[in-house]
Amino acid sequence: MNKFIFVSGGVCSSLGKGVAASSLGALLEGRGLNVRMVKCDPYINVDAGTMSPYQHGEVYVTDDGAETDLDLGNYARFTSGSLSRSNSITTGQVYDSVIRKEREGRYLGRCVQVIPHITDEIKSRIQAVFREDADTDVVIVEIGGTVGDIESIPFLEAARQLIHESGKANAISVHLTLIPEVAGGELKTKPTQHSVKAMQEQGIQPDILICRAPVMLDEPTRRKIALFTNMDPDAVFTSYDVDTTIYEIPLIFFEQKLDQVVLKKLGVESRHANLSPWYSMMERFKSRNGKVRIGIVGKYMDLHDSYKSVYEALFHAGLAGGVEVELVKIDSSRLEGSDPPENILGTTGEDAEIDGILVPGGFGQRGINGMVKAAAWARENKIPYFGICLGMQIMVIDWGRNVLGWEDADSTEFNQDTKHPVISLLEEQVDVKNYGGTMRLGKSESVVQGGSRILTAYGEKNIFERHRHRYEFSNKYRKEMTESGLLLTAFTPDGSLVECTEWPEHPWGVGVQFHPEFKSKPTAASPLFRDFVAAARDRKQSLR
Ligand code: GLN
Repeated sequence: MNKFIFVSGGVCSSLGKGVAASSLGALLEGRGLNVRMVKCDPYINVDAGTMSPYQHGEVYVTDDGAETDLDLGNYARFTSGSLSRSNSITTGQVYDSVIRKEREGRYLGRCVQVIPHITDEIKSRIQAVFREDADTDVVIVEIGGTVGDIESIPFLEAARQLIHESGKANAISVHLTLIPEVAGGELKTKPTQHSVKAMQEQGIQPDILICRAPVMLDEPTRRKIALFTNMDPDAVFTSYDVDTTIYEIPLIFFEQKLDQVVLKKLGVESRHANLSPWYSMMERFKSRNGKVRIGIVGKYMDLHDSYKSVYEALFHAGLAGGVEVELVKIDSSRLEGSDPPENILGTTGEDAEIDGILVPGGFGQRGINGMVKAAAWARENKIPYFGICLGMQIMVIDWGRNVLGWEDADSTEFNQDTKHPVISLLEEQVDVKNYGGTMRLGKSESVVQGGSRILTAYGEKNIFERHRHRYEFSNKYRKEMTESGLLLTAFTPDGSLVECTEWPEHPWGVGVQFHPEFKSKPTAASPLFRDFVAAARDRKQSLR
């Protein structure tokens, strides 16, 4: 089977196109198909690696070290097909390779144009997904942006051509729009009608419409939309606002038979649907009992998407631990004033406000001292602490400053002149000048030591997680750090780099140089997140 589903969006952005595409992917996987997800991003950046997390949200990292759009994180949480560099296509990559081929003379003297050269490059990148993974049945291609945007036109044209060339039974268009509610509670279909017209102007008649609406659309509304958009009424679906969790959306679509209609349109025989992991996840969601408050002490606090995978992983951990996780977002620079940390992080007594502290990844100097204060406070007051990447480096800086008494202990990222560079650059990173794609990136192995919290979490010694950083625990300080009690509990297989630090005599203080959040799923929480939230829960319960 070589089937395509193109998912586009209209009316406005932020309708949840990524979640809708991923939910459809989950349903098709539930029907036993091998699904792979692809994101087309119309921006000119070659990848998301150089984009600010303040503006564009987190950079999602794949096993092969691609720095991609955060939508790939949605794909990873909802579906299980492999994700790599080839699942993220940007205008920047497409032009980069077309221009490179032009310089190599590969277009044999022809004038190089958007059509056919850019569109051909887009098509060949989408088709490459089938070539890479021979057992792929369906590729779901999400086209970023909103129909009508200038930037999306080449991607929609490539989709149109692929639909035309593959034939109707092998490629379909799914279009997501908004049905707004105006004063008086009336639902308005006109923007959707216009949005489908805009698709038709691009030469694509959507086969399936998913309408984002405050409530489930009634039959007359669906019929009206179908009539004015040239669709079958049974191909108009509602993605209504949920007050549970986005992870219920696959089930909401399933109840409306979205997967059945998609399979029929693609000419695939109906198969048995197994959605039991999703149903049992929802059971766990509903039976959560009690709440833990996790303080996230970071620097990109205003935009939820900046730490998207971290927040999602905490939610997954709550599902695993039977508790609701409340996120308390704390801008670390707030901790840098003279206010004692307990005023911001809460008291340590019975009515403790914060049950655990997580310091996530980050770059740059701002707010670092606030993070060190939070780590010191968690260490001294025996509050569960989880440091991720920068958060592990912070743990080491705190140990240097506050246990070993080296006041200027620091990472050379923040202070090049420190006498105690406890975190520093690897030799090979010293001369790197280009920012794009030059960090330590992607999946690698860590070997976990016996008797550690990290071993308890994973239950195995050889683990594989993803990296995205330049700086490392400085080996010069291994001896002093360990002799003073800091536990180094995971290393690269050759022993050369420290991957995990833990606090001794502490309920749960763990820092890892990698990013476990990227592999966490609602149906299978990341082991470290699971144990961190469980430690926070247990601490809270023990104080009762
Ligand atoms: N800035 C740190 C480094 O480059 C940490 C990176 C991160 O947290 N992802 O090593």
